[in-house]
Amino acid sequence: MDKKTFDTTTISPTFCILPWIHMSTRPNGHMRVCCTANASSAGATNDKKWGGEVGIVKNDDGKPANLNHTDLLSGWNNLYMRSVRQAMLNGKVPPSCSKCFKEEAAGHRSKRNWETEYWNRRVDTKALVSDTQVDGSVPPKMYYVDLRLGTKCNLKCVMCSPHDSSMWVSDWNKLYPQLKNASLKEVMMWNNKGKVDGASYDWHRDNPEFWKQLYDQIPHMRQLYFAGGESTIIKEHYDLLEECIERGYAKKIELRYNSNGIEMPDRLFTLWEKFKRVRFHFSIDSFADMNDYIRFPSKWPQIEAQLSRLDETPDHVEITIACAVQMLNMYYIPDFIKWKLEQNYKKINPWPLGAGLMNFHFVYHPAHLNIKVFPRWMKQRIRKKFEDFSLWLQANHRNDTDFINSGYGIKRLMGMVSFMESEDWSQRMPEFIEYIQKMDDIRGTSFVKTFPEMAPLVVRPNNDPQLSL
Ligand code: SF4
Repeated sequence: MDKKTFDTTTISPTFCILPWIHMSTRPNGHMRVCCTANASSAGATNDKKWGGEVGIVKNDDGKPANLNHTDLLSGWNNLYMRSVRQAMLNGKVPPSCSKCFKEEAAGHRSKRNWETEYWNRRVDTKALVSDTQVDGSVPPKMYYVDLRLGTKCNLKCVMCSPHDSSMWVSDWNKLYPQLKNASLKEVMMWNNKGKVDGASYDWHRDNPEFWKQLYDQIPHMRQLYFAGGESTIIKEHYDLLEECIERGYAKKIELRYNSNGIEMPDRLFTLWEKFKRVRFHFSIDSFADMNDYIRFPSKWPQIEAQLSRLDETPDHVEITIACAVQMLNMYYIPDFIKWKLEQNYKKINPWPLGAGLMNFHFVYHPAHLNIKVFPRWMKQRIRKKFEDFSLWLQANHRNDTDFINSGYGIKRLMGMVSFMESEDWSQRMPEFIEYIQKMDDIRGTSFVKTFPEMAPLVVRPNNDPQLSL
């Protein structure tokens, strides 16, 4: 049952609940404050204002706390995590968390906002804070973990990399030696095949200490979150679900996924029946050939078939579309939403999830795909399209007060525009152009044909001055 909520802003204006209840991993075994935190250093340039890799939990020697060599509970209360909690209690923004605060300043509802609200209804936040020691340490109880069990994946999305997808390795081997732009080269670096600071993509295999500590947390656990590589094809994801069932705790645990939905064996649906709730965020970034280009080499008819299958799942399974907002799809998001509304799905983003439309999050890596990179003329076109679409939604979809006031509907869409306009990263346009052209060469795709309205970004007709940066 939900706990009585209280106003978390009375703790401090910079409080976020996650460092008290949650630990996140990278596919290489690095621990991090949350999945959003280590994008906080992304910016208009590659300057490492906060020493780079901000958001990755560090050991006292300043090296990443990696589950290959650091156990889960030591990371939970090490100096780095303690200082994140102390900063928040003292009303400061920890460097790991600047991304959330920048998004909020641009009018976007940040992960800090929605996670804190969500968990504040489910745990006793007041007790969590009062149990915090002066040095920032807290009892060893994790309610929510984000597990990235290696990089095994069946897609190689254009905004991904070998850091997160095993399928990307062959394309990276072709791409990287060809790159000319120094900044782009730095962004696309993949040192020593990911084996840095004791990291490896099979950190979760042959790691009895990790599994013992994680299994010991099962009685406290309220949510297991799986994202990246692709958990539906990763054996250890299934092993963990079975362990929760065997220990008798599945009915207290929510499962949450960000998944490409390409492979969903019957076994998965059978296991889901045993859990309290399943929140499945289907990663789809556009529709038809635009989605196939971004989430390469997926095939749109298969995605549509999976959506129809998920639309028939039982009530305890919640389905949303999780759209990664980036240079390739921002202009087309109104069209994507129209497509989604036309399908009349029964339970894919039912109201109020994503205001009945879909869910959005921003791409920060690689930085040249972040929507702040658009040149000014393109940002103007996007603003106009979103403003027109907001009117269309009110005229053709809903114009009741609930919809108009929802933080996830029109406000969210226009917040995305404000976020795009909040900083000028257009100096990365040469990186974007080089990246897209080389990826098209390697994959046999065509940006210009797939996204014709954006063709002037890479091909400027007659050096049209209207289209200058
Ligand atoms: S403030 Fe944002 S980045 Fe920091 S832990 Fe919370 S959700 Fe993650």
